[in-house]
Amino acid sequence: MVTPYKHEPFTDFSVEKNRKDFREALQKVEAELGQHFDLLVGGERIRTEEKIISINPANKDEVVGTVSKADQEIAEKAINKAEKAFHTWKKYSAEQRANVLMRAAAIVRRRKHEFSAYLVKEVGKPWKEADADTAEGIDFLEYYARQMIELKDGKPVNSRPNEHNRYFYQPMGIALVIPPWNLAFAIMCGTTVAPLVTGNAVLLKPASNSPVIAAKLVEVLEEAGVPEGALNFIPGSGSEVGNYLVDHPKTNVISFTGSRDVGTSIYERAAQVKAGQNHLKQVIVEMGGKDTVVVDEDGDLDLAAQEIITSAYGFSGQKCSSGSRAVIHKDVYDEVLEKTKQLARELTVGEPNSADVFMGPVVEQAAYDKIMGYMDIGKEEGRLITGGEGDDSQGYYIQPTSFADLDPHSRLMQEEIFGPVVAFCKADDFDHAIEIANNTEYGLTGAVITNNRAHIEQATHDFHVGNLYFNRNCTGAIVGYQPFGGFKMSGTDSKAGGPDYLKLHMQAKSVSEMY
Ligand code: GLU
Repeated sequence: MVTPYKHEPFTDFSVEKNRKDFREALQKVEAELGQHFDLLVGGERIRTEEKIISINPANKDEVVGTVSKADQEIAEKAINKAEKAFHTWKKYSAEQRANVLMRAAAIVRRRKHEFSAYLVKEVGKPWKEADADTAEGIDFLEYYARQMIELKDGKPVNSRPNEHNRYFYQPMGIALVIPPWNLAFAIMCGTTVAPLVTGNAVLLKPASNSPVIAAKLVEVLEEAGVPEGALNFIPGSGSEVGNYLVDHPKTNVISFTGSRDVGTSIYERAAQVKAGQNHLKQVIVEMGGKDTVVVDEDGDLDLAAQEIITSAYGFSGQKCSSGSRAVIHKDVYDEVLEKTKQLARELTVGEPNSADVFMGPVVEQAAYDKIMGYMDIGKEEGRLITGGEGDDSQGYYIQPTSFADLDPHSRLMQEEIFGPVVAFCKADDFDHAIEIANNTEYGLTGAVITNNRAHIEQATHDFHVGNLYFNRNCTGAIVGYQPFGGFKMSGTDSKAGGPDYLKLHMQAKSVSEMY
C-alpha cells in the first residue's frame, strides 16, 4: 500500500530560513560548476571527444557543465542495449518499477534546493520558478509510480460461463524521449519516467541547453535502482542522433516536447515504416502555444492585471503555457492596460541571485535575437506600452514588454514568441473575445477573468484549449490536479500528469481462455 498522492509543496521564500537554505544550495552548486558528465549506454559510461557545453544564460561566462555527445554509432549501440534490457525490465513487477520512482522522488526531495539551484544556473530560472520545476519533477515521480500500481492488473472485463477474460497493459519496447529545456527538470523527468515505469527501455536525449540537470536525474535513477540498459543517456544533436532514432525501425515510442516545427517533423518521420520495422510507432508530441488571457467586462480588474503579468512574464514567457495574448472587453480595456503597465514597471529583471528577482534572462542568443526581432514588429503593428528593450552583454536579458491595440490577425497575436512579450487586443463583447482567443493554430492553455456564470459555461465549451482556467493565470498546471496537454497544433493532447498518460506508453492486451 502507498499513501495517496499529494503534490509537493512550494518553498515559501518569505521565510528567511528558506532563503538561507537556497543560498547555500546555490553556493554548493557554484562550487561544483564545470563538471563533465558522460553518456550512459547499457550501464557503461562513455566519454566522447565532442562535448555539449552548458552555459548559464544569466552570465554567459559561466560554464555550468559539459556532457559527452553521442553520434549515430553510439545511438545504435544504445538501441541494442535498450532492446536487451527491455526483456528483463518489462518483467519487473509494477511495484518494483514504481518503487524505483518513489525512491528517486525521495532522493530529489532530500536534495530539492540543489536541483533547483542547478535550474537557476543552467536555464536562468528565478528561484520561485526553479522551485516549482523541481517540485513538479518530484510530483511526476510520485504520481506515475502510483498510477502504475493502479494499472498493473488492467481493467475489469466480463467473462461468460467457461470463459476467463482478462484485459491488461504491456509495455511497447524502446522509448525515445526528447524533452525541452524550459521545464528542464519537470518535463524531462516526467517524460523519462513515464515510459520507464510502464516497463519500456528508455533512450533519453536531453535538450542541448539543459543537459546537466538531465545527467543529474540519470544519476538519481541509477541510485534508485534502474537496471543497466533500461535507461540510456545519449545527449546529441537533433539532426544527427535525434532523427536517426526517430527513424529507427526498433523505436516504439517517441515522446517529444518542444517547438511546433520539430514536433510536426517528428510526427511525419515517425509515420514512415522502415525496412525491418514491424510495428507502428506511438508518438506523443507536445508543442507550442499562443495562449490567451480573456478579461470580461465584469471581471476583477486588479486580478486580471496580476494574472496577465504572471501568465506573460513567469520564466520570461518561456513556457508553452505562457499567456502572450490579453484579449479584453472594450469597456475595461484601458483600465486593465493601465493596471498591467503599473505592475510590469515594478518587476525586477536580472541574474536570479536572490528570491526577489522576478525575471531572469531568456535561454540563449538565438532566443534573444528572435524575441528582439518581435520588438520591431510590435512597434509596427501596435503601440509599445512597456519594455521593448534588451541587453545581451552579460546575459540574455529582455524587459517585460507589452504592446497594445493589436489586430487579432497581427503577427504578434499569431506567432509564438517564447519570450516576455504580451499583446493586448480589444474585444467588442464576450463572444468576440472567445472568437479572438480561438483564432490561433494552437490550443494549449487559456484563462478567463470573469464573474459571469453564463460566460464561464460558454467558455468551458467554446474556448478550444486543452487547459482552461477561470479567475487565475494560464500557467503552472499541477501534476495529478490539472493534467496538461493541448489541442490543435499544440500537440497530441497527451495530458501529462493525468490518469490517461501512462497508457500512451503501453498497449492493451485481451486474453481469453476457455476452461
Ligand atoms: N505545464 C506547464 C504549465 O502548466 C507548461 C509546460 C511547458 O511550458 O512546456 O505551465
